[in-house]
Amino acid sequence: MAAWPIIGHEWAVGLLQKAIARGRLSHAYLFIGPAQVGKTTLARAFAQALLCEQQPAGPCGVCRVCQRIAQGRFPDLQLIVAEKNTIQIDQVRALQTDAALSPLEGRYRVFIIREIERATLPAANALLKSLEEPPPQVILLLTATRRDQVLPTILSRCQLMSLRPLPLEQTRSALETRWGVEPERAALLARLSAGRLGWAIAAHTNPDLWQARASQLDRLLALTAEGYVERLRYAEKLSRQEDGPELTLGLWAAWWRDVLLIQRGAADAVINLDRRAQLAQQAALYPPEQVERALTDLLRTLRRLRANVNVRLALDVLMLRLPRPAVA
Ligand SMILES: [Zn+2]
Repeated sequence: MAAWPIIGHEWAVGLLQKAIARGRLSHAYLFIGPAQVGKTTLARAFAQALLCEQQPAGPCGVCRVCQRIAQGRFPDLQLIVAEKNTIQIDQVRALQTDAALSPLEGRYRVFIIREIERATLPAANALLKSLEEPPPQVILLLTATRRDQVLPTILSRCQLMSLRPLPLEQTRSALETRWGVEPERAALLARLSAGRLGWAIAAHTNPDLWQARASQLDRLLALTAEGYVERLRYAEKLSRQEDGPELTLGLWAAWWRDVLLIQRGAADAVINLDRRAQLAQQAALYPPEQVERALTDLLRTLRRLRANVNVRLALDVLMLRLPRPAVA
């Protein structure tokens, strides 16, 4: 069988390959996993394998179908993404109209619906119909970041594929060998990405993302020295951040974790390799109990946000409890 253009997730690739080879396909699959871990990439590779001209050995990566899928221009594969943060019922109805027709060129019509948890209730209910009585030759590939936000009725009608973050070493070596990232940067990106290869590649290729990380860390450091008014003002701003506060808080958690590691004499394990000097300064500035508390606070806040608490309130509490340097 051909190698899929996928790094990691070997068990999932193996399972999907077998399903194709044995002709035992589900009508719907749901790929669940952290943001940018590779859910859509895997769904697209699966679609390529289903539609590739080289059956059942695909995806070959070179036939007309594989190439057009890679360019996003194959009519029997459609990608549906949230518009203005939600998947609307109109989008599902359009899908259903297309799904009722025979495939134009391939054996199947494949629809990838990203972030199904963003579907409005009417949209999700409309989609249930397609999941219950799927038209023949239609395969639905859904992705979701959080299982607990997907309707149980949708979960129960899909084959679930849970994708885990990749091991550190696999991420690092993939960045070096496939994306030509220089070794030191690859090591840094691999640690920062926490096994989400898509994030690492995006951070490598997009200077804006990289800049955003820098300014979020700088902001954290500045905030520790600021008063309550400034801190609450920042909490307000963070609560309105378009893609949510989680990424920023995740960066901060990694930062305090690093400071604590240095304080505990485990500097080799830090994530923010490029800021070692600054981390060492910080380690000298705070008592370890304070750093530990900051880390616990952040992790608790992240958990609360997942449980849909009042975002603003959770962030206010977090900001007020931020550590202060022992020495000015
Ligand atoms: Zn092909």
